[in-house]
Amino acid sequence: MSGILLMTFDDFFVPEWSAMRGMFREHGARVTFFISEPYKLDDDAWRRLRELAGDGHTVGAHGLRHLWAPDRIAALGGDGYLAEDVDPCLAALRAHGFEAASFAYPVSRRDERSDAVLGGVFRRLRGGTGHPAEGGLDTLDEIFTPVAEVAGRRVLIGAGIDTGKLFKPAGVDDASVRSALVRAAAREEAVTFYAHAVADSHECNHVSPARLEMVLTQAAELGLRVLGFDDLDQTGMTSPTPV
Ligand SMILES: [Zn+2]
Repeated sequence: MSGILLMTFDDFFVPEWSAMRGMFREHGARVTFFISEPYKLDDDAWRRLRELAGDGHTVGAHGLRHLWAPDRIAALGGDGYLAEDVDPCLAALRAHGFEAASFAYPVSRRDERSDAVLGGVFRRLRGGTGHPAEGGLDTLDEIFTPVAEVAGRRVLIGAGIDTGKLFKPAGVDDASVRSALVRAAAREEAVTFYAHAVADSHECNHVSPARLEMVLTQAAELGLRVLGFDDLDQTGMTSPTPV
């Protein structure tokens, strides 16, 4: 059994993701796009998102207005939060032909209660973690899951691999990113990454095309399968039991 890279992208940068179609295809990579603020997508972006889904990539949800789940659940209760930020996001995706089975937490804010609330709606949830004070991403145990267990995990924690925001570096270098891929291959683990826009420079958080290419090239060289969240439900893997 080989290791797995779960590469995910958040927010609404569909044109930028769509420009990477060829790169994904060349590397045999399937990835996951978590959509927030779907009202920002125009007809062309929806068409491009359908193309990406047609290529085998997964489309998940990331909140109608990108609200912080634990805070909104504390304010409104679970059902109130779902009605406010999750159900309308799902409805917008559904109106364009997407059934989202997974959800990424806005700003990675989550807790046990939010996992229970969202676990009743989605098969899988993606959280996130900061970078290690020292050492590479391979030291972040929470971003790794044994391959044999990954399909059954309800919550998968990712590490950000963005290169920057505007001209400010995001604080993780290529060697640190590579260390996580090497670990996943050596230990037969699934490792989860997240990024946002794909661009050399962008006002929002973004990963450079060069880093993305490096990640996908190294994943292939290390024998990692690069899979979308929905791919984890394929035969031979055990899905999470419904709550
Ligand atoms: Zn986000």
